[in-house]
Amino acid sequence: MTTLNETHDPELKSWVTSANKAGCDFPIQNLPFGRFRRTGIEDGWRIGVAIGDQVLDLRAAGLVDNDDMNTVMAASPEARQALRRELSDGLREGSTQRPAWTRALVPQNECEYSVPCRIGDYTDFYTSVHHATTVGKQFRPDNPLLPNYKWVPIGYHGRASSIGVSGGTFKRPRGQTRAPDAQAPSLGPSKRLDYELELGWFVACGNEQGEPIEIGNAEAHLFGVTLFNDWSARDIQGWEYQPLGPFLSKNFASTVSPWMVTMEALAPFRAAFERPADDPQPLPYLDSDANRARGAFSISLEVLVQTAKMREAGEAPVRLSATNTSRAAYWTPAQLVAHHTVNGCNLQAGDLLGSGTLSGPEPSEAGSLMELTGSGKSPVTLPNGEVRSFLEDGDTLILRGWCEADGAIRIGLGECSGTVAAS
Ligand code: MN
Repeated sequence: MTTLNETHDPELKSWVTSANKAGCDFPIQNLPFGRFRRTGIEDGWRIGVAIGDQVLDLRAAGLVDNDDMNTVMAASPEARQALRRELSDGLREGSTQRPAWTRALVPQNECEYSVPCRIGDYTDFYTSVHHATTVGKQFRPDNPLLPNYKWVPIGYHGRASSIGVSGGTFKRPRGQTRAPDAQAPSLGPSKRLDYELELGWFVACGNEQGEPIEIGNAEAHLFGVTLFNDWSARDIQGWEYQPLGPFLSKNFASTVSPWMVTMEALAPFRAAFERPADDPQPLPYLDSDANRARGAFSISLEVLVQTAKMREAGEAPVRLSATNTSRAAYWTPAQLVAHHTVNGCNLQAGDLLGSGTLSGPEPSEAGSLMELTGSGKSPVTLPNGEVRSFLEDGDTLILRGWCEADGAIRIGLGECSGTVAAS
């Protein structure tokens, strides 16, 4: 597990002065990785690190010799920590790197982004017991939580090809649905399009097939975290999900934020993993003293919406819900890695592990419209009078995340936005 070192020192300031402003997502204590290029320049994607309102081009700064992010991610934990120290040293006030690295900076508002790495495989978990319970109630009022939930970190294999980066638009999916009163299903645009507030944990170095990753070593196999929106068509999902789980209701589009906030940057924002005494305790392969002491993370999350009408009227997005991972997640990232590989499944650098919808215990902390509106029965009224049961064409959905702790500088995950287009 990563520990605090001089790169987390709250007194550190950068010669990139925008990084020193209070509330900035990307102070020198953060240093998240992404892939970028200058807008409109049809060049290959380059590896960048966000600092203040700038991006440091790692190859131009002489820190990498090619632009393959997955290679950087697959390096040993020691090499990744050494790169973080080099970045921290070179970007801090008084560094002799300043003249050379100034030429390697690009303003963020002159950049466009790709998904932050090549995502080979994508798995989505189901780590919020509150989400699982609320959703389960809609299908099984008397027995909302299935008996395996508190023993197994539930997940399914998703699809990587349709994962896009923040700022994009996707078409409302069409699919087969069956209305409750209908004799037969029909094909058409989804009428119950939803979002899911999630985090995406990216795999660093992988494991050999047949060689499980033990929980004590699990975090060394994680590179960092992004915001993740697992767009979901609830009407397609309701008709197709039995017996093999989600399929076309989920794989038409997913969205990630551009920046991977590293496990090292998250070190000041760890939390205890607590399991209520009445609940089953994790099996030994999912348990360790270190995981109990500080295997969880405290990441604040919020969801905002801006409808087409709001955009035309120049109105800012409004908040739909907010929560914190420490209130929402039943399993830690290390447990997800240990469980995913316990059967010998091999993970690879760049694989994405979705957290599942991160809903907290209170209704205002729900991470999807299905939960916020009771499956559409209690629509949300927006400040301009518009009403939403599910998403409509032209809606932009925005996820934001940040970390705060006593004695640490606030860091941000940035933003993950996406807009629904007509089918
Ligand atoms: Mn999901």
